[in-house]
Order: sequence, then C-alpha cells, then structure tokens
Amino acid sequence: MKPEIKNLTLAELEQTMLDLGEPKFRGKQVYSWLHRAAPDFAAMTNLPRSLREKLADRFLLTCPTVVRKQESALDGTVKYLWRLYDGNCVETVLMRYHHGNTVCISSEVGCPMGCAFCASTIGGLVRRLSAGEILDEVLFTQADSGQEISNIVLMGIGEPLDNYDNVTRFLELVNSPEGANIGMRHISLSTCGVVPKIRALAESELQLTLSVSLHAPDDETRNRIMPVNRTWNVEALLSACRDYFKATGRRISFEYAMIRGVNDSPEAAGLLIRRLHGMAAHVNLIPLNHVDESPFEPSERQTVLRFQKQLEDSGIACTVRRTLGSDIDASCGQLRRKYRQTELASAD
Ligand code: SAH
Repeated sequence: MKPEIKNLTLAELEQTMLDLGEPKFRGKQVYSWLHRAAPDFAAMTNLPRSLREKLADRFLLTCPTVVRKQESALDGTVKYLWRLYDGNCVETVLMRYHHGNTVCISSEVGCPMGCAFCASTIGGLVRRLSAGEILDEVLFTQADSGQEISNIVLMGIGEPLDNYDNVTRFLELVNSPEGANIGMRHISLSTCGVVPKIRALAESELQLTLSVSLHAPDDETRNRIMPVNRTWNVEALLSACRDYFKATGRRISFEYAMIRGVNDSPEAAGLLIRRLHGMAAHVNLIPLNHVDESPFEPSERQTVLRFQKQLEDSGIACTVRRTLGSDIDASCGQLRRKYRQTELASAD
C-alpha cells in the first residue's frame, strides 16, 4: 500500500519534495492544502500538473466520507460517522461551548481495552488509526460544519495510549503553525490507565491535559469493570499520575462514571478522597450512559450530587459533566455500533 501523505510533518514533506527534484517551497504548499482538507491532489491548483500526478502515484491521500450525520435539536451537538478508505467507520462529535467549538475524536477503530460499561470495545480492536486519519477527523469536521475548531478531546472510540506513536505524531501535526495550529493547552487526552505510556507522555512534556478514567478507587471494583486494572492497578496508576504532575506541572482530570450500586456509595467517595489526598486533581463525574449490551445503570441524580458534595467538602475540585447530544447517541461507540448492526442485519 502507498504511504499516507498526511502522516508527514512539514519538514518531512519538504524533504520529499527535494527527493522528487522539486523546490523545497512546494512542501509548504502541499502541507497547506492537506491541512485545509483538500479532497485530492487534483484540487491543489497552484502545483504543476506533473507534480500532482507524481504525488498521486506515490501517496495515498485519505479523505473520509460522511456515512451518517446527526444534529442534536437540544444543543447543536453534531455527531459524524465517517467511512475510512478501507470501509471501516469511526465517530467524531462536534460540541459547541461558549468558550469555543470542541471536537471529540476517535483514535482507533474499536478498542482492545474491554471496559465493561463501554460500547466502543464490544467488537474488540479492528485497527489503529494513522496520525493522518486522526487529523482528518478534525479537518473534515471543520470543513463539513464550517465551524472553526478550537479545542480537541481524545475521548472518542479507542485507547489513545494503545496507539501512542500515531497519536503523538497527530498532536505534532495538529499543533503545527502551518496547519490547524491548535495549542496543546486546548487538547485533552483520555486514557483508561496504560501506565508505561502515561510515563512516556510525562517525559515528552507536552502541555496537554491528561484525563484518567478512574471510575473506581479500589482494585476489586476496578478489576471488575476495567480489565486494564489487572495489569496496572489503582496504586500503580495513581503513582504514575503523581509523577506526571511532578514532571509537567499539569493538573490531572479524573473521569468517574457513576454506576448505580457499583461505585457510587459514600464509602467509595471516602476511599476516593483518601487516594487523591495531596494530589492536584480534578474529578469529573459522568452520569453513565446506558449501553444496551451492558447490565450497568446510571446512578440516581441525588446520588451523583451527594457524591460530588462529599468530594467538594473535603477540598477536591469536582464537577458533574453536562450531557450533550443525549438525543443523538452522542456517547462513544454507540453510533458506529448501531450502524454496524443495521449493516449486518441488511446483509442477512
Ligand atoms: N480509552 C480512553 C478514551 C475513550 S472513552 C479512556 O478510557 O479514557 C472516553 C470516556 O468515556 C472514558 O472516561 C470512558 O471510561 C467513558 N465511558 C465509556 N463508556 C461510557 C458510558 N457508557 N457511560 C459513561 N462514560 C463512558
């Protein structure tokens, strides 16, 4: 298969031009087209035709197409289901906040991590996305919606730290001044707790926000709902988080999905408080989204508010996540899953 041109950094593209016997400045021209979501090489009208043909011979230019697009009547959230060049699909969600437009992007087709409450992992991992394909989610959402994107959250389908090299290359691309130029401080990356990669990320000193999907403060509960905990347990994870803060000075955001009768008791809150004691942490309580295949139910509103108060009373910053797009299956993996089911049903 041909290499994907959008995986290249500007410096690499400039080198490619020199290798092809072209002037270096062509690199910047091509880069600029790519990062403005040009659908093909033919669209790059300021390049000589011979160069466009050479590039088309040598490189794949990925251009995802819209399979489904759902717009929330409640809050303007737009959810895209994209078809990739090989027929696989991923989801991207565009959310409109007063501080700017945020996209929630996927990093893998499916997910290998197996969290018991999550729709994205039900069919396992199909494949990882390339850096360029992750970038495409940002570029093509921007192009289709006409909305400029100022914030990115890597919280869609997949485990970003299971696709570390491609995700960090994507960060470099989307951050580049000649590209979308989105600042690292406007980017959040969410992980279920791949400890060695949290440590690698700390060393890279990227100024992004790390979100950690904790969801339980004790190993017994966490083992049950998140298989990753059997490899790196709560203590190993929190120790990596403490070191991450020491290395980067960036406060960590802990995600905590409130699951009725599983992790929402006052005792669980008490243990969470003790474990986070002395850490620069922020806890984000997420009312669980019901997934048809899963036995788990969301906690009652009262339980969520009581849990939040208990954390706040002990000095831990804690917010309850607003649910956007609840009328359009906007939580991870649900649209892709439903689409695959209807596809399978119509293939029968
Ligand atoms: N793999 C990464 C990022 C993708 S999931 C991670 O685990 O962090 C983004 C967030 O949604 C994670 O916190 C995840 O645990 C949470 N999540 C998954 N399924 C959910 C559900 N049914 N209800 C609420 N949150 C869910």
